Amino acid sequence: MLFALQHRGQESAGIVWTEGGAHKVDRRLGMVSGAADAWLSGTAASTGGIGHVRYSTAGGGGIRNAQPLAVECSKGSVALAHNGNISNSAALRAALTREGAIFQSSSDSELILHLISRSRARGIEAILRDALAPLEGAYSLCMLWGDTLAAVRDPWGFRPLHIAEKDGVRYVASETCALHALGPSISQREILPGEVVLVDEDGERSFFLPPAPRRARCVFELIYFARPDSRVFGESVHAARERFGEALAERDDVEADLVVPVPDSGNLAALGYARRAGIPFEFGITRNHYAGRSFILPTRAEREFAVRMKLHPVPEIVGGRRVVLVDDSLVRGTTSRLIVGLLKEAGAREVHLRLSAPELTGPCGYGIDIPDRSELISNRMNPGQIARHVGADTVRFLTTDLLKSRLAEPSEYCYACFDGDYPCPIRNGEGKDATCP
Ligand code: SF4
Repeated sequence: MLFALQHRGQESAGIVWTEGGAHKVDRRLGMVSGAADAWLSGTAASTGGIGHVRYSTAGGGGIRNAQPLAVECSKGSVALAHNGNISNSAALRAALTREGAIFQSSSDSELILHLISRSRARGIEAILRDALAPLEGAYSLCMLWGDTLAAVRDPWGFRPLHIAEKDGVRYVASETCALHALGPSISQREILPGEVVLVDEDGERSFFLPPAPRRARCVFELIYFARPDSRVFGESVHAARERFGEALAERDDVEADLVVPVPDSGNLAALGYARRAGIPFEFGITRNHYAGRSFILPTRAEREFAVRMKLHPVPEIVGGRRVVLVDDSLVRGTTSRLIVGLLKEAGAREVHLRLSAPELTGPCGYGIDIPDRSELISNRMNPGQIARHVGADTVRFLTTDLLKSRLAEPSEYCYACFDGDYPCPIRNGEGKDATCP
């Protein structure tokens, strides 16, 4: 399952499993493949476990922030895997530190373990209700509490979370692609916003946390982050991306010979665009699949190097042609400038850059590592200026209205990084988060 979720984080991977009544922990920097052999042979006697792949958002990277986190505390052995960002973590952390709490990591996830340990409630359900009450923001959690599995989705529903059952065993994963790895007959469902599922020797039961003022599924999961063969928020990611591409073509009158995706992030939107625009689709850029994902690497130098290692235009396809280049979104513009340059070097006559997301204008704060406002190119330039900056002939974005028109339940989503309407305040008071309302 962790192999199937590798696209969600490549900096570190880890597992915690039960063996002989105790929790064992193995966390490593790097990808799942570096640890899989040891994990498969070392956990044969285990009765249950949780795992995590991480890319750093709050708190930075490094082994001390690798997850799952595991502690012995007043409530027993508790291990935690967290997807998302707690948007009021700085205030909570400061309050806990004033009261004498000692933190071993700089990630916001450790807060949750402190709140659990300090709760005066009794029993897992009451403790979770009490400990999670002060949290704001995004938290899809998978916890191993002694032998009990607890899966939690925050009341806003920012990040996806699913549960499946097969042969009496429960499986929880962020995306359904990880559950497909268990075989075709798997029966699965979405864990609902605010739902807490507990699985122990008596079976499965669930309860709900108090509702949030609104739902806020992250639309960026559909645009970019989730794997296309997954269903998240009840939508096929594959189909949603094609619809976004079709919408992008709907109001575009550019004359071109080819639609070329930036592989793999632009593949499906390009397919939808080409079909709607009636322009031939070609894989005019070859991707080296042995190089990593550029967006997910933490430094600019690493991202630029990754692009050069990863993407190679095919001169026989793009030479002398007018190309519509489709990608999912535009962050700093650095990657697009490199790709447009590579296409022109390969002989493309014109390059028209099309993005299947609106203009990114703000950071996230709920678990996607979008940089500071000052680094976002759409905060500094209009599409004409961006075109000149990246070397493209024209640049166009999907509008928020058109994006919403392609979703089954548009009012249930967060679009804050595009429209500035943050579903819950981000009060972390430092760095990129300080700029949010
Ligand atoms: S701000 Fe953007 S990336 Fe963050 S949860 Fe909202 S839609 Fe997703």
